[in-house]
Amino acid sequence: MKIAVVSGKGGTGKTTVSAALADLCQGSLILADCDVDAANFGIVFPAEDVVSVPYAGRDVVEIDSDVCIGCGKCEDVCRFSAVQVIGGAAFVHPLSCEGCGTCMLVCPVSAISRIKMVSGEIYTGTTEKGPLVSAELFAGSGNSGRMVHEVKRQAFSFAKSDNLIIDGPPGIGCPLMATIGGVDAVLMVTEPGVSAVHDLKRLVVVCKKMHIRMFAVINRFDLSNQQVREIEAYCQAENIPVAGKIPFDEHVVAAVSACMPVTRISCPASDELSRIRAFVSDSTKDS
Ligand code: SF4
Ligand code: SF4
Repeated sequence: MKIAVVSGKGGTGKTTVSAALADLCQGSLILADCDVDAANFGIVFPAEDVVSVPYAGRDVVEIDSDVCIGCGKCEDVCRFSAVQVIGGAAFVHPLSCEGCGTCMLVCPVSAISRIKMVSGEIYTGTTEKGPLVSAELFAGSGNSGRMVHEVKRQAFSFAKSDNLIIDGPPGIGCPLMATIGGVDAVLMVTEPGVSAVHDLKRLVVVCKKMHIRMFAVINRFDLSNQQVREIEAYCQAENIPVAGKIPFDEHVVAAVSACMPVTRISCPASDELSRIRAFVSDSTKDS
């Protein structure tokens, strides 16, 4: 079973839910953290024997200063202001370069070539629950969707186990789509709040388009009865099961501070997370 825990909005408690599901899993398990901008699965489940591999996901160009004659044609055609002629030689700003190659076409002396830019690191390691694949996208680097795809590809390649829990990225862009493609179900964590509900609805649109089975989890549900009723009504209308409602619970804060799954503390939130896991497990047993 491959499950991605996602949320349209950041800060809804996605990692708390992911970590709880992972902690409650009895069999062999693979963990993947697809939030490459702020991976924190590894904080809850520290990995050992970590192997780090540079990730080169972007094409950029480089200019051979020994060949460049400083004509400025590349600067003229670059629509991204990524190249500049200074003191008779051209220089590329890699973070601005889109790798389109237009400058290569106009360079009279073939001084420009395309290269791959290292935009992050992919990590694989071993945790107490099983292998963990995660990544770090370097500040200012783009294409996190591609990087997420690589994290997931590596996680899927650990074929020993059918159980995969993905801590997904917030939002509904490329990283989300790269995360949920090929999973058996998504667990959408939301909370009472206008922006969270709005983002949940946008998330549902994406998941429906990708034909992914959905479950909703309402975190800190006791903060607003009215908005919880709205979420439940919306989920019912969309035929999305609400797998559970987690109460606001100080023990969650304590667990986060202690960098451990809340399921290791006996408390109302932990009890509900156990029920959520059983609900999802029972609901997907025959699929
Ligand atoms: S590859 Fe495209 S974006 Fe990069 S410097 Fe050349 S023209 Fe500009
Ligand atoms: S077009 Fe080629 S020769 Fe002219 S400034 Fe750019 S890199 Fe240098």
